[in-house]
Amino acid sequence: MKLPVVPDAERDLVINEMFGPTFQGEGPSTGRYARFIRLFGCHISCVWCDSAQTHDQRRYDLAAEQRIVSIEDVLSWLSGGPAGLVVITGGEPLLQPRVVERLVNAIRERQLATDIEIETSGTIAPTALIASAVTRFNVSPKLAHSRLRRHQRIRPTVLKDLTASGKASWKFVAQDVDDLDEIQELVSTYDLHPVWVMPEGTDSTTVLARMRVLADPVLAHGWNLSTRLHTLLWENDRGR
Ligand code: SF4
Repeated sequence: MKLPVVPDAERDLVINEMFGPTFQGEGPSTGRYARFIRLFGCHISCVWCDSAQTHDQRRYDLAAEQRIVSIEDVLSWLSGGPAGLVVITGGEPLLQPRVVERLVNAIRERQLATDIEIETSGTIAPTALIASAVTRFNVSPKLAHSRLRRHQRIRPTVLKDLTASGKASWKFVAQDVDDLDEIQELVSTYDLHPVWVMPEGTDSTTVLARMRVLADPVLAHGWNLSTRLHTLLWENDRGR
C-alpha cells in the first residue's frame, strides 16, 4: 500500500473522514459523546477490515477517499462543538506520527477535548509525545482470522512499548468462542490488561448474535465485552 504524497508531514494530515458528534461505539468509552478523525492509510490488510476505504485500492478509489487537511482546519472543526472525547482512528493513525504528535498536543493546549483516544493495531509504537498527550490507546492486535501472518500482526516490542505507556486497553476482535484461546495466549505471553473482546461484524444481526455467543465465555475469562454501538444503531452507515 502506498501512502499519498503529504505536502507537509509536520502540518498536514492525510484524512479519510472527520465525523461527529456521535457516540464512541467500541471499547471502554462506549456510548460517550465523541468526534472522530479517521486517518487515511494502513500498512496491513485484515480480510474483514471495516474501514477498507482507508487503504484497499482493489475495492475503493483511494484518490477519492483521501484529503489533505491542515492541523489548523482540524482544530477549527473541533472548536465548533463542546469539548468531549476525540477519537483518532484509521486506517492506522500511527503511520503519521509527527503530525499526530502536533495535533494531540494542540488539542490539549487549546482544551478542545476532555479525552483523546487513539485506535491502533498495535504494530507501530507511539512516540513519547503522543503517549503523553492521549488519554488512552485502544489497541487491537489482530488474530489469525484476519488472515495476516503472525509477524505482520504481532510485534512484541510494540506491545511492550504500549504496555509501558500505561495507557493501553486491549480490544480483540473475535468471530467465535475458539478465538478466545488465541486471545488468552497473547494476553498471557505479553501480559496485556485490561482486555475487551468485541464481536466482528458490520451489521446489527451479526454483532448481536456473536455477542450472545461470546458473552458467557468472556465472563468466564474475567474479561470485558464490547459491543459495536454504532452498528447496532446505524448498521454500516459511513460517518456515524
Ligand atoms: S489494522 Fe485496522 S484499518 Fe488496518 S486493515 Fe486491519 S482492521 Fe483495517
